Amino acid sequence: MHEMGLAQNILDIVVKTAEQNNVDKVVRINVRAGQLRGIVPEQLQFCFGFVARESSVVDGAELVIETLPIKGKCKSCSHEFSVEEYRFVCPECEHEDIDVLQGMELMVSNIEAV
Ligand SMILES: [Zn+2]
Repeated sequence: MHEMGLAQNILDIVVKTAEQNNVDKVVRINVRAGQLRGIVPEQLQFCFGFVARESSVVDGAELVIETLPIKGKCKSCSHEFSVEEYRFVCPECEHEDIDVLQGMELMVSNIEAV
């Protein structure tokens, strides 16, 4: 289950950020995850709740996951489009050589603290 490793990474980032900002208690963490990461939000939240126990600052914080859809750009005609159902084919010219513009992200976008 790769969610456990991701949860640990997120926790490390949040703990470090909290220390740098002298935060006593983190209440909410916003994460942006590209669809290509294949993250199951419920699983990531479950794993995060588990690993967060090792930090009294982060324990109990809510993890909010925003999934970013896949966006591609055709290398042939430069058309930009949303990739539906993992079909990497340009809807304009049916070219199959596509640059991925969005979908591989994984980042902590916001941390709310009290
Ligand atoms: Zn095209």
